[in-house]
Amino acid sequence: MAEVVVVGGGYAGLASLISLAGKVPKSQLHLIDANKEHCKITNLHKTFARPVADFNVPYARLAERFGFIFHQQRLHIDSNSLKHWQQQKKIPLADGELDFDWLIVSTGAASLIPPRGHHVYGLEHLIAGRGRALLDEWRTRAASEALNISFVGGGATGLQILFELKALLRQQKIDAGLRLLDMNNRTVPFLPEGAHRYIVRKLHREGISYLPETEYQEQTDACIMLKECRSGREYQLDSAATLLFAGVKRQPLSVPTNTFGQIEIEGELLPDIFSAGDCSDYAGNGLNLLTAQAAIRKGKLVAHNIGNLLAGRGLRPYRYQEKGYLMSLGPIDAIGWIGLRCNLARGFPANVLKEAMESQYDLFLDGVDTYVGFP
Ligand SMILES: Cc1cc2nc3c(=O)[nH]c(=O)nc-3n(C[C@H](O)[C@H](O)[C@H](O)COP(=O)(O)OP(=O)(O)OC[C@H]3O[C@@H](n4cnc5c(N)ncnc54)[C@H](O)[C@@H]3O)c2cc1C
Repeated sequence: MAEVVVVGGGYAGLASLISLAGKVPKSQLHLIDANKEHCKITNLHKTFARPVADFNVPYARLAERFGFIFHQQRLHIDSNSLKHWQQQKKIPLADGELDFDWLIVSTGAASLIPPRGHHVYGLEHLIAGRGRALLDEWRTRAASEALNISFVGGGATGLQILFELKALLRQQKIDAGLRLLDMNNRTVPFLPEGAHRYIVRKLHREGISYLPETEYQEQTDACIMLKECRSGREYQLDSAATLLFAGVKRQPLSVPTNTFGQIEIEGELLPDIFSAGDCSDYAGNGLNLLTAQAAIRKGKLVAHNIGNLLAGRGLRPYRYQEKGYLMSLGPIDAIGWIGLRCNLARGFPANVLKEAMESQYDLFLDGVDTYVGFP
C-alpha cells in the first residue's frame, strides 16, 4: 500500500487528501499539521461578529470522513530537510519516523510584516479568535473617548476585514473612525482599475479616510507613526489600534516546483516530493497566485499526478487559469470579475456569488466535489 504524507492541512493539503481518498483507495494517507483544526481562513473577516469556531473543522473529524491518519506537529522545513527527506524517504515525527512513498508540502503563507507590539493585530489574532474581544474593547472605549482604528494594506484581505468591521461598527452604533493606509498608489493592484475606483468611492461614502502611498512605521500606545512614500515626511496620527494586513509571503520558504508540482531545489529534482498551495512557486503559466482558488487546483493536480505515478502513467502539467476573483466588501457588497477580467461584478449579486464559492468549499469538505473539470 502506498504511503502518502501531506504536511499542512489548509486548502491545498485537504484538496490533495480528499482527491487521493477518492481516486487512490489503495493508499495510506497521513496529514501532519501544526494545529488541531482546519481553519477556513477565507472567512476570517467574519470573526468580529461570529466565533472563529464557526469556521474551523477538527482534523479528527476530517480524518474519519476521508480515512487519513492525523498527526499534530509543527515540522521544521527548509531546503536541506527536503533534500534529506527525499534521500531517506522518511519524515521525523515526535513519536518516531514516518515512511512515505510520496510527500506533499502545503504549508501556506505567513504575514509579510508580523503584527508586533501592543495594539497591533493581524491574521494570527483573528485565527486565534480575538476578533469579538477586540470589538468589545473598542465598543467600551468608544463610549468614553474619540477612537480611531488604522488599517494597513489595500489588498483583498485588509479590505474585506475593513468593510466587515465598518458594517459592524455602524450596526452596533460604535462611534469609531477608520482609516486605510497603503504603500501603493491604488487598492487591489491585481484587480482591474474599475475595482479600485469602486472601492475608493465606497471608502468615501463610508467616511473611511484613505491614505495611499503611505508607509506604516509603528503603532504606539495612542498613535500611529507614518511616512509619506514620495516626500519621506514622517508624521503621526491618533490611533487606538492598527490592523496590519500588509500582504503574505510563502512559508516557511518559497518552494520551487516544476510544472508537475514536484519540488526542484537549485536545479535538483526531488521526484517524490510535491508542493501545492500558497507555499509553492510553480514553473509554467498556470495560476500561481496566493489564493484559495489556486491552492485547491494545485492540491488536486498533485493528487492526480501521484495517482498517475501509482498507475504507471505520465504526469500532467499544471495549466489551471483563473476563472474570476471576488472579494467581499461587507456583508452585502462585493467586487471582482468573472470569466473575463473586463467583466466586473459588483454589489449584492457579486456578494451572493462570493458566498456561493464559500458554500462550494464547505460541500467539498463534506465530500461533495463540485470543482469539476480539473485537472
Ligand atoms: C481574510 C482572508 C480572506 C481570503 N479570501 C480569499 C478569497 O476570497 N479567495 C481566495 O481565493 N483566497 C482568499 N484568501 C487566500 C487564501 O486563504 C489562501 O490562498 C489559502 O488559504 C491558501 O491555502 P494553503 O493550503 O496554501 O494554506 P493555508 O490554508 O494557510 O494552510 C496551511 C496549513 O499548513 C499548516 N502549517 C504551516 N506550517 C506548518 C509546519 N511547519 N508544520 C505543520 N503544519 C504547518 C498550517 O497550520 C495550515 O493548516 C484569503 C485569505 C485571508 C487571510
